[in-house]
Amino acid sequence: MTAIYGIIGWPLGHTLSPALHNWGFSRLSIDARYETFPLEPEGLPAFMDRVRTGEIRGLSVTIPHKRAVMARLDRITDRARRVGAVNTLFWDGDALCGENTDVIGVVAPLGRLPSLPGSALILGAGGAARAAVAGLLELGVADVAVANRTRAKAEGLAADFSVRVVDWAARMDESPGLICNTTPLGMSGANRDRSPWDADRFPEGCAAYDIVYNPLETRFLRDAAAAGCAVISGLEMFLHQGLAQFRLWTGRDMDEAGARALLLDALGGR
Ligand code: NAP
Repeated sequence: MTAIYGIIGWPLGHTLSPALHNWGFSRLSIDARYETFPLEPEGLPAFMDRVRTGEIRGLSVTIPHKRAVMARLDRITDRARRVGAVNTLFWDGDALCGENTDVIGVVAPLGRLPSLPGSALILGAGGAARAAVAGLLELGVADVAVANRTRAKAEGLAADFSVRVVDWAARMDESPGLICNTTPLGMSGANRDRSPWDADRFPEGCAAYDIVYNPLETRFLRDAAAAGCAVISGLEMFLHQGLAQFRLWTGRDMDEAGARALLLDALGGR
């Protein structure tokens, strides 16, 4: 019988996840299908009853369910517990488990840098910032700091992870080895031509990581590359969180280069 996977979220706008996973199933001749399940918050309990029947073999979870779903699972990984959010449901035997592969998605592309940065500054303090902080600490980055427009939110995140807070207005006085943008500045739409960092303030030798992937090359990354920084686009995070989900569900690895080409194609970057 065809195994069913999918994504829950509300509102569930356009997502690249179905294209990625269905491509992986097809390439590896796995009899499975990945569907979209738009799900309002009130619908979560009934939907989870359906998941419990075993009909659905794995799920991606997005806003607003990432926290709420945790109370409905048998087991949560230490990583997801640290972040306080689950983005992936998978079965381990009869146990319904939750993982946070956004953390894996943040960390994996950093392996391409010539060396591990000694310090990192995270811009933003929302859900993606939590995954970024957790990932950088997992990697062993010694000095992690957070700057956010609303300082109280940065303070909350910093207290949860024992990292430093930098005032948003003073962020460019820092000289981190890695600057990671998790704000929507630079995203297509009203924020498209905006960057969270001044073009002439990139520290010598720093790397710039933008988790925004639409457009593929944000103004932040363009400015950073022009300043001589190594750059990592948000496509890499998206790709690696998806590869990690696929591995949890199927025990198999999707072809990374092929999957990247598929996503680049979908985002018009090829
Ligand atoms: P979120 O929880 O809503 O957090 C957004 C953060 O950005 C908040 O800290 C907010 O600051 C800040 N922010 C918003 N507008 C700003 C502005 N004009 N100036 C300065 N700061 C601003 O969102 P999220 O879930 O963390 O997602 C953030 C971004 O990451 C989105 O663009 C999303 O598409 C992207 N993302 C990418 C991936 C991937 O796989 N590549 C995965 C997840 C998310 P305040 O606290 O002051 O409001």
